[in-house]
Amino acid sequence: MPATIPLTGGVRWINECFAHEDAHEHVSVYLIETETAAILIDSGSFYHREAIAERIDQATGGDGPEAIVLSHSDYPHAGNISTIRDRWDDVELVASSGSPELQGLSDAQRCTIGDSRTVLDRRFSFVDPPLADRSHTAWIYDHGSGVLFTADGFGSYHEPADCDRTSRQFEDNVPRETIYQYHANNLAWLRYVDPEKLEAALASIFETYDISYVAPIHGHPISGRELPEFTNRLVDVAGCIASEYEVPEP
Ligand SMILES: [Zn+2]
Ligand SMILES: [Zn+2]
Repeated sequence: MPATIPLTGGVRWINECFAHEDAHEHVSVYLIETETAAILIDSGSFYHREAIAERIDQATGGDGPEAIVLSHSDYPHAGNISTIRDRWDDVELVASSGSPELQGLSDAQRCTIGDSRTVLDRRFSFVDPPLADRSHTAWIYDHGSGVLFTADGFGSYHEPADCDRTSRQFEDNVPRETIYQYHANNLAWLRYVDPEKLEAALASIFETYDISYVAPIHGHPISGRELPEFTNRLVDVAGCIASEYEVPEP
């Protein structure tokens, strides 16, 4: 079983992948070890249920997480909530929204996008994401570590050899082509997005929060050192996707 990968400030990356025909896609979760507790960001896909539970078990010495904070309720993010809550007792659930029919989510504490709140002993802000394909997605900023968890934003595909790499382990950052492939396949609505507005919205978030790492669910964690260049590539990719489609005049 692969170990969890430490990033910074008690945050560990639990990376799992889907193997597509020509590339891998991360479907990760993150574990924050605070002074007194462990907090899980998202719960992963049910395809990786056993592996994720085992890796959490190992990282927490069997104690499991005391809370799960959910970016949104899509299955690859929320697929293991009931498994985790069955395996460990009294796991708090915090979500920006939930479909009541989704098992295990009906008793979630609701956070409001734009607000901050303390979960156990850790302060989080819930950021309105400029890259999200539906409402009720929150980007989650952890004030203790400076990590911004960006759900489906800031993703990329990767080669099978690169599953464990953060941006720091690439010679020249996360390759632009893999950022392009991920966004073209998964965020098709980007064709309607003005890249300049996207760039301004991201700049405003980066001015507000002191970011040590951007931690996407579907890509390599990006350290502050590589973040400006990654963001350049992302905005450039958004421009390419927009220019490939004619948006009809109203
Ligand atoms: Zn997703
Ligand atoms: Zn992989």
